[in-house]
Amino acid sequence: MAYQYDLFVIGAGSGGVRASRVAASKGYKVAVAEGSALGGTCVNIGCVPKKLFVYASEYGHGFGEAAGFGWTNEGTKFDWSVLRDNKTKEIERLNGIYGNMLGNAGVEVISGFASFVDAHTVMVNGKTYTAERILIAVGAKPFIPEFQGSDLVVSSNEMFYLDSLPSKALVVGGGYIAVEFAGILNGLSVDTSLAYRGDQLLRGFDEDVRAFASEEYKKSGIDVRLNTGVDRIELVDPEDQASERMVHFKDGTSERFGLILYATGRVPNVGSLELDKAGVEFGKNGAVKIDKNFKTTADSVFALGDVTDNIQLTPVAIKEAMALIDYWFDGKEVDFDYDNIPTAVFSQPAIGTVGLSEQEAEARGIDFRVYQTDFRAMKHTLSGATSRTLMKMLVNNADEKVIGAHMVGDYSGEIIQGLGIALKAGATKADFDATVGVHPTSAEEFVTFSAGALKERK
Ligand SMILES: Cc1cc2nc3c(=O)[nH]c(=O)nc-3n(C[C@H](O)[C@H](O)[C@H](O)COP(=O)(O)OP(=O)(O)OC[C@H]3O[C@@H](n4cnc5c(N)ncnc54)[C@H](O)[C@@H]3O)c2cc1C
Repeated sequence: MAYQYDLFVIGAGSGGVRASRVAASKGYKVAVAEGSALGGTCVNIGCVPKKLFVYASEYGHGFGEAAGFGWTNEGTKFDWSVLRDNKTKEIERLNGIYGNMLGNAGVEVISGFASFVDAHTVMVNGKTYTAERILIAVGAKPFIPEFQGSDLVVSSNEMFYLDSLPSKALVVGGGYIAVEFAGILNGLSVDTSLAYRGDQLLRGFDEDVRAFASEEYKKSGIDVRLNTGVDRIELVDPEDQASERMVHFKDGTSERFGLILYATGRVPNVGSLELDKAGVEFGKNGAVKIDKNFKTTADSVFALGDVTDNIQLTPVAIKEAMALIDYWFDGKEVDFDYDNIPTAVFSQPAIGTVGLSEQEAEARGIDFRVYQTDFRAMKHTLSGATSRTLMKMLVNNADEKVIGAHMVGDYSGEIIQGLGIALKAGATKADFDATVGVHPTSAEEFVTFSAGALKERK
């Protein structure tokens, strides 16, 4: 049967843009449907605007720290609307670049939300399109549990377009989005509390990293409240939707906040797709079920990125798209390696991590040793800040390979990218030791770990 397109992509986010652009540049007839803005979560309401906000909030600490270096800062003021609107202009510029990129590659961009008619047909704005293959790349969306007053909170989506900043905010959640936004608000001089129902923030990260980061967040001014749950939320003035919110916590206490951000997880964005019409099944957490070649339970329908609830990161969605294109059009079997993916949390201080945590290495029964140090970075000898930096490295005793590297401190995200290459290449402790350090940096600690830094493990 002749189809209108070789490939129809649903969602022009990180994975969808890459898949459609590369397929079209190989000469295939491709269309992509996007219901919102080109570039998806990362460009519009994720990585990019968030990082711009992180930069803005770092000045909040920077002005204070500059005094120790001889600067006087009188009359510094922050204007939220300038930051928000400059950010929006930059995002619109990026939306334009994405549009040009797709257009130049020959991809037909269709504005609107797509849903399935059958396994080879989708509908957008009442019009049907047929394709030999359909790729679901619709990402994920914030999950906010339902409770009394849940309509009075915002998700990360709204944080990028707030009319004004409150003087006091509550962030609920313990994952990377929660700690990043707590850092942003705190740096922008908002009195910020971070409430998490568990024992420690950042589940899944190395335990030393979690404990250390949590203490550093407190030092930076965030009121971190662990084992804290919200019972219900009410308007302080029931007649005024814009009035402050009264949060009643599970321990019986109550407190007013101008803004409440719920960063309590993300769920696959499949609601309006009508996947049953294509015979596409769901797996855990409502994620689209795929095999190792990204094929769903329907032979002509594929899925990648956040909607599959694998590792929810932009570079992962992009690499998955490249692997899928190689499989479809060059016949290369997919052998996607999800190990040693470096990642950063752009909290303040930042976290960089690659490879196994101490707990993961233990669970795998690996015989390993740990080098660990924490210190006051040189900058803070004059800045007056009491922040410290943590560095940690795991070495497999069997073959001397470095199997994990973790850092909490300035520039961790930048530093961990290089270490990601070393771990991917299978570098040993001896390779690290043979590398000349860059002085004076914090990063050089990773190549100077000696027996003195060996951690005593229980
Ligand atoms: C606040 C925040 C911060 C983040 N920070 C980072 C970070 O620092 N680093 C990092 O690597 N990752 C980060 N991420 C995660 C990253 O944004 C995602 O992993 C990435 O965008 C996933 O790409 P994707 O292609 O799967 O989906 P998305 O980029 O989410 O794209 C999906 C697209 O599909 C569209 N869509 C949905 N349904 C339909 C439909 N029915 N029809 C047509 N279009 C549809 C959506 O509008 C969207 O544009 C962050 C996410 C958030 C929310």
